[in-house]
Amino acid sequence: MIDTQTLPDNILTTQLKRVVNWARRSSLWPMPFATACCGIELMATASSRYDLARFGAEAMRFSPRQADLMIVAGRVTTKMMPVLQHIYQQMTEPKWVISMGACASTGGVFDCYATIQGIDQFMPVDVYVPGCPPRPETLIEGIMAIQRIIDSDGLPPAGKRRPLQLAIEPSYAPSPQPVPLTVGGRTV
Ligand code: SF4
Repeated sequence: MIDTQTLPDNILTTQLKRVVNWARRSSLWPMPFATACCGIELMATASSRYDLARFGAEAMRFSPRQADLMIVAGRVTTKMMPVLQHIYQQMTEPKWVISMGACASTGGVFDCYATIQGIDQFMPVDVYVPGCPPRPETLIEGIMAIQRIIDSDGLPPAGKRRPLQLAIEPSYAPSPQPVPLTVGGRTV
């Protein structure tokens, strides 16, 4: 708590990197690259039920120059990969990449020549979010992992970073879905 009597002008001292990193981690702007069913879970993560806005990452941007977090949700075909790489390269540094779901990370059940068997063969991936599809909670854990890394970072170095390559292990106990409704004391 700030003592407003002894510090009438409310002076706070801190390190520049803490302020910069607090601002960076509280304002991640995702670039959704949603190609399949995982994209629906990505949309659910931004909905009122899971409320990605609590983490300051709800401002989805469809322009790479305004985004610093690429979320690849769904399978990527060999024809799509150059487009994905192009969008990634247009994003400004520092930027992060989440590979959401089995298809983006490994090709999933689509073990065929047309599907990329893991996007990390062609672009750096910071966090792998497992599942088919991952639940919104797991995606949020992936985003929080990036936030923790940003928080503990120094100021962003010039040039490219090495990919973090973290794999998220879900730590939540899912409750039955959908949650039953009670109307007039009666469960429906
Ligand atoms: S991981 Fe599963 S849910 Fe996600 S895109 Fe692939 S098949 Fe669909």
